[in-house]
Amino acid sequence: MMLTGLQIAVIGGDARQLEVIRKLSELDARLSLIGFEQLDHVYSGVFKEKLSEVNFHEIDAIILPVTGTNLEGQVDTIFSNEEVRLTEEIILKTPSYCTIYSGISNPYLDSITQKANRKLVKLFERNDVAIYNSIPTVEGTIMMAIQHTEFTIHGSTVAILGLGRVGMSVARAFHHLGAKVKVGARKTEHIARIEEMGLKPFHLKELDKEVKDIDICINTVPQLIVNAAVIQKMPTHTLIIDLASKPGGTDFRYAEKRGIKALLAPSLPGIVAPKTAGQILGNVLTQLIDEDVIKRKGNEQ
Ligand code: NAP
Repeated sequence: MMLTGLQIAVIGGDARQLEVIRKLSELDARLSLIGFEQLDHVYSGVFKEKLSEVNFHEIDAIILPVTGTNLEGQVDTIFSNEEVRLTEEIILKTPSYCTIYSGISNPYLDSITQKANRKLVKLFERNDVAIYNSIPTVEGTIMMAIQHTEFTIHGSTVAILGLGRVGMSVARAFHHLGAKVKVGARKTEHIARIEEMGLKPFHLKELDKEVKDIDICINTVPQLIVNAAVIQKMPTHTLIIDLASKPGGTDFRYAEKRGIKALLAPSLPGIVAPKTAGQILGNVLTQLIDEDVIKRKGNEQ
């Protein structure tokens, strides 16, 4: 599959976007890079442009960073000092089949794409992306556990909270490293799966009882479940690694008060493996651009 003849605007982003750019360029798309003027080397067919210079009437797809925009429409650009702001007016210039790709969204981005009647794809809501991303997330979690403890993972008792896409990968990896892993969940099917994996299941409503003997607590539930009552029952040497999206699921104030080390660890894939994290996005994006853009563009012409 090639992207020859497609014009794609890549607006802002971090090191992960460099892999996306490489992949799309390899597939022969013409790329307008906005917010990348400090980037030294660009491939042929790739043009560094200012937002005002881009002819959006010819843009088939817009790729935003993992974070999308902020609530005022500003896009993070780490390779530029310029302020880049995506507006409804810009999106309205694009052809009707133009698709906007972002990691996550917010009310601003939802609203401008809805008003302009353009398709918005939130890559991080996709199961495939979440599962692939759990791989570098696990490696980052292992790194943090090693850096912040004086004991081996092997032989330690680790409680993992949540058996979603991240929780399952984390549980399996710590199990294979020789930890005694127990996993907290609330659904009976999750309890059954944990048992099947050879790990110790417990119901999250029993969390305060289950933390009495743990060395490491890894939370993936984006709700305040590691609350003061739970932290109060933990041994003082326990390390809490909270992977859930900001603000996490831990009462960090109380953990600090009790002298328990608690770390909020967001965006691990972008930190420990930006290249892999970018490749994950690049691979999914090329498939999606084929489905969303090439087919719809073909239908219109
Ligand atoms: P997921 O597949 O939706 O898993 C979330 C888990 O939390 C599920 O097991 C879910 O159980 C449980 N859960 C949600 N609300 C709950 C509640 N109120 N009480 C008890 N359990 C609850 O999500 P994921 O892809 O694994 O991601 C988990 C979190 O990690 C998200 O916040 C995500 O943004 C974040 N994340 C962080 C990193 C990083 O680098 N730190 C990387 C990737 C993802 P049910 O099925 O019972 O609802």
